[in-house]
Amino acid sequence: MSNLTYRYTGPLPLGSVVAHYCGAAGLTTTKGAPVWRLEGLGAEEGYTLTVYHNDVPVAVFKGALSNEGRLEIGGQLLKLIRTTQGRPALGEWGTLVGVRPTKMFHKLWDIDENSDTPPAAEPSNPDEPGTVINGCDTAVQVLRKRFDVSEPKIELLKAVATLQRPFVAPHETADREVSVYGGIPFCQTHCTYCSFPYGLIQDYRRIPEFLGAFVNDATQLKGLIETYGLQVATVYMGGGTPTSLGDEDFATALAALAKLHRENSEFTVEAGRPDSVTPHKLATMAKLGVNRISINPQSMHDDILKAVGRGHTAAAIKELYAYVRSYTNFAVNMDFIAGLPYQTLSHMEENLDYVCQARPENVTIHTLALKRGSPLYDGVGREAMPEAAAVEEMVARSKERLEAAGYVPYYVYRQQYMTSQTENIGYTLPGYICEYNIRIMEERQSILSVGPGSSSKWMRAPEYRQLQQHMPKDVSVYIDTLSALLEKRSRLCKKFWEG
Ligand code: SF4
Repeated sequence: MSNLTYRYTGPLPLGSVVAHYCGAAGLTTTKGAPVWRLEGLGAEEGYTLTVYHNDVPVAVFKGALSNEGRLEIGGQLLKLIRTTQGRPALGEWGTLVGVRPTKMFHKLWDIDENSDTPPAAEPSNPDEPGTVINGCDTAVQVLRKRFDVSEPKIELLKAVATLQRPFVAPHETADREVSVYGGIPFCQTHCTYCSFPYGLIQDYRRIPEFLGAFVNDATQLKGLIETYGLQVATVYMGGGTPTSLGDEDFATALAALAKLHRENSEFTVEAGRPDSVTPHKLATMAKLGVNRISINPQSMHDDILKAVGRGHTAAAIKELYAYVRSYTNFAVNMDFIAGLPYQTLSHMEENLDYVCQARPENVTIHTLALKRGSPLYDGVGREAMPEAAAVEEMVARSKERLEAAGYVPYYVYRQQYMTSQTENIGYTLPGYICEYNIRIMEERQSILSVGPGSSSKWMRAPEYRQLQQHMPKDVSVYIDTLSALLEKRSRLCKKFWEG
């Protein structure tokens, strides 16, 4: 029996909060006998959560019948689990859980800006009684006092939110600004840490039909964009690995998305794996207006790449990067992961040596998340995963070295089941932020999507996320039900923009 399992029974609203806090403590649900059994009750006088550890009752937490009450119970539960695990009651993130900490930061910032209190003209000291504070300071105070977030994490969130603010602050034309996402649901191999729900491209027999459906999907979306007078701010082609398509198929799919792209605006392609990228595909991208690509080494060590099923080498990354620099003007992002099996701090230092010398415009440092449904979760290489403390050191060292090399953090998010109490950070050289990444993280702009497994979200201030539609992940279901899916998208657009 894993000692990281739990089962919850009780009211759903409390259950979803409990799930977030258990995830933050590294617990996953199980159908077998759980180590942590959590029994929730909701009554007029409030919520009660009874906690059993190895079938022994160890605590009863109570909270009001409200979101506040649920968060209160969640925070207490997190502290209990962590101390039982032999860790300090609170990590650097305090009792703040959830994937998008900066989204909350912006929300607090908005509330203060929309209140009658004028923002301070000068930087203020929020701890001094009677001081007029601005929205950013309000957010800082809440994180510090209500969620016990550590000062370094508060500084990180404040810096990122301040940099993002021009892109997310409510403004008059925001309602008709959209981003477009196109998802290509194939890869050539299955990375062991990925819960990738699709098939391998070499196993899928209906590629021509998939392409036909993808083009129809994009064409219908173009019509909707014209009908409602929408402004496309950014286009992003992701996956899977879009470049796993053959040269001509890739050109067909990209051309369909390029018709939605506004000249000189941001247009990104995930060219994640060097073994999938050809000079032909790069030339196609340049011709169709792409100006940013993502090349994702994850590690610059062949033994680690092999152990996680990546199927490419570090030399292939270097070769592709040199080619892109010589023959294109693309801005380049590189993703790395801290916490891969067999990885040590010196491996991460060597990754950073390479990055600091190559100087891609963007670098993203992820912390490995143990995702249910991934081969790693099921045991492939799990015994070789580094300890949480080692991962935290890798993440901290990455921040230190990237900042010393001139990079600044511009988006940050957390995942459930991360292997340490850290976060994923996107860094940029000044002037090269990826606007799409900010928009997808902060969820303040509508994103209209094309392709299987993609999600469209229609957002409007002040609540944001009013409507959403998720395309089926199964590629064949997507192909076979496309007309109904497109009709639904038309209806949702009409509802959102015509009321
Ligand atoms: S390339 Fe990306 S999407 Fe594909 S299996 Fe690996 S991590 Fe998952």
